[in-house]
Amino acid sequence: MASDQIGLIYILGGGHSGSTVLSMILGTAGQVFNAGEIKFFGRHRHPDAPRWQEVSNICICGQDAAGCPFWREVIRLGPDLEAFYAQGAKGYLNLILQIARLYSPPEFDDTSILRHILLCAQQIKPDVTTILDMSKNLPRLHQLLRQESLETSILFLIREPYGYVNSYRKRHRKGFLRWVLQWILVNVSCKAYLHLRGLRHHIVSYENLITTPQEELARIEDFLAIRLPENYLEESRKQESHVRAGNPAMIRSQALTGLILDDSWKTELSFFQVWIIRALTFPFGFLTRG
Ligand SMILES: [Zn+2]
Repeated sequence: MASDQIGLIYILGGGHSGSTVLSMILGTAGQVFNAGEIKFFGRHRHPDAPRWQEVSNICICGQDAAGCPFWREVIRLGPDLEAFYAQGAKGYLNLILQIARLYSPPEFDDTSILRHILLCAQQIKPDVTTILDMSKNLPRLHQLLRQESLETSILFLIREPYGYVNSYRKRHRKGFLRWVLQWILVNVSCKAYLHLRGLRHHIVSYENLITTPQEELARIEDFLAIRLPENYLEESRKQESHVRAGNPAMIRSQALTGLILDDSWKTELSFFQVWIIRALTFPFGFLTRG
C-alpha cells in the first residue's frame, strides 16, 4: 500500500449483531482499528437528524461525541467535517441517478475524516494501517469507492432472513413484512452492485461466523491479509476501543456473550411468519453463494 493510501475495510449488508461481532473481532488485528458506523460521524451537529435518538453518537467507551477523548481529538483535527450518508429509499434513488449519470452528489469529507481517525488510532495501536467502517450502507460504499486515496476491502455480511427479520422487528417494535422486503432489497441490491461493477469482495455468513468461527475467520484473514490474535474474544474485551455510534450496552452484551448464535426467531416467530419468510426469500437462496 502506498504511504499516502488509507486502508479501509467496509462492512456491507445487514444485521445488527453480526456486524457488531465481526467488527469487534477484526478490530483485534494489529493493523485494524474498528471505528464503528462512520456514517453517523457529524450527526451530533444535527440533533434533529433521523435516527439520532437511536444512535446518539455514543462511543463504546461510554462517553458521547463531545466527551470521548478519542473522537474529540479526531474532531479537533478537522472541525465541521461531514461523512457521507444517504439514508433509506432516497439514498438508493440517489445512487441509481448517480450510476445513470443524472445526478452528482456534493463532495464529502470522508477521506479527511478517515485520515484523522488513522492518526489518532496509531496513538493507541502503532501498527494500524486500516480503518474498519461498519456503516453497511450501499450508497455510502459507492461514495467511498470514488475516493482515490482509499484502498477499500469489502466484506458483504449476510444473515439468514429469519433471524434478520426478527431482530429488526424487535428493535423497532413494529413491522414484519417491511423487514422481509428490506432483507430482499438490501441483499439483492448489494449483490447486483458488486457483480455489475466487478468488485472484489468476500461474503461472510453470519450463521457460519458464529457456528464455525475458525473456518470463517481464516477465510476472512486470507481475504484481508491480516492476522487475528489467538485469543481474539478476550482481546476485544481488553483493548481500548472507541466505536462511533455504538450502543455500549449492546456491544458490551455482544462482547460478553461472544459467539452465541441468536436463534430466538425459532420461538418468537409464528409458524405462519416463518412460512411467509420462506416463501418470499426462497428465490434468493443464491445470495449466500460467492
Ligand atoms: Zn470513546
